[in-house]
Amino acid sequence: MIKANDPQLKSWIEVDKNSDFPIQNLPFGIFKTQSSSPRVGIAIGDHVLDLAVLNKLGFLKNLNIDNSVFTNQYLNDFIALGKPTWRALRQRISDLLNADNAELRDNKEARDKVLQYISNVQMLMPVRVGDYTDFYSSIDHATNVGTMFRDPANALLPNWKHLPVGYHGRASSIIISGTNFHRPKGQTKPADSDQPVFGPTKLLDFELEVAFIIGKPTELGNSVSTAQADDYIFGLTLFNDWSARDIQTWEYVPLGPFLAKNFASTVSPWIVTLDALEPFRTEGYKQEPKVLAYLEYTGERNLDIQLEVSIQPENNGETIVCHSNYKYMYWTMEQQLAHHTVNGCNINIGDIMASGTISGPTPNSFGSMLELSWRGTKPLKMNDGTERKFINDNDTVIIRGYCEKNSVRIGFGEARGKVLPAN
Ligand code: CA
Repeated sequence: MIKANDPQLKSWIEVDKNSDFPIQNLPFGIFKTQSSSPRVGIAIGDHVLDLAVLNKLGFLKNLNIDNSVFTNQYLNDFIALGKPTWRALRQRISDLLNADNAELRDNKEARDKVLQYISNVQMLMPVRVGDYTDFYSSIDHATNVGTMFRDPANALLPNWKHLPVGYHGRASSIIISGTNFHRPKGQTKPADSDQPVFGPTKLLDFELEVAFIIGKPTELGNSVSTAQADDYIFGLTLFNDWSARDIQTWEYVPLGPFLAKNFASTVSPWIVTLDALEPFRTEGYKQEPKVLAYLEYTGERNLDIQLEVSIQPENNGETIVCHSNYKYMYWTMEQQLAHHTVNGCNINIGDIMASGTISGPTPNSFGSMLELSWRGTKPLKMNDGTERKFINDNDTVIIRGYCEKNSVRIGFGEARGKVLPAN
């Protein structure tokens, strides 16, 4: 048996070298076809492997997994089986897809039943999200925003380097990649008026984020330490936390984000397991001043995930507007989770915890239009000749991300969303 992360592994399924889904990845998602109900799948190259059928045909019999967790519209019940089961299943799928393994490779009848082209299926929300928390953990992002709106000399508020700032978001409006939505309306206060007005947001923005999905619940009153945190994380997705900047500016004092943030957040369909991402651990920013004991951690806990954002105007090609990286996070996932639960707040399987906008240190790595256009003062040129300060009607915003090392590329697919005119 070769370990699922081994860079030497090759599958009998042909996988393009630029594919996000080589045999070392094996991310989980929920899909359906015109003739099938929602079910659990694993991506491999251009294909999705149908776990419900695979299990029914007996290929997973040693794992003793009840097929109801695979013939399910969410991954929550599968995730509830626990990390040893996720690992054993991923390893079994890795073995089955290994080029040297004839079991499924040479069984054409079974192969035709368990493999579909991803382009022929519809991807659905991978988990039932109970709660959604959004952090604010990129130091470059927080510094940019503080510089723009407050004081360049004191861009970070006094608490920022002592705790991962966050807020509770809205789970009901998290949407799967490919779901379009209408430009939100709301209350804003124009600079030249002393009265607020109502109407469509004029400053619609994306926020480039990565989210982690909770894989193990806690009881009310319990906490998760930084050392334990990885046991509570199932995997990661891309995340666009759409934001209406003009609504945000007027509403956010004193309690923080509300309607400027809760109209839509786009999530990518494939959950890349933390196990698949382990080879890409890397060092983060040095944390100075020293954090309180409950936030301390050891080792390299950041992840080297290259991220990019494109804007695609209606009927035109994409323009890449941002290249960033998840490694620019000042606070790690483990610290976010330790902080979130230190007061006894309980977590549940399927909860989404998003990073906050991920900006890097250079202007082309900023993770929002607010920063890229520097509050609208530096419009971005699109390949079609038009300019953007923020997001226009009928623009599609696409986030992509991948890790790469030893010629293995572990990708996330896309988080894509189109903004329709206000209705
Ligand atoms: Ca956000």
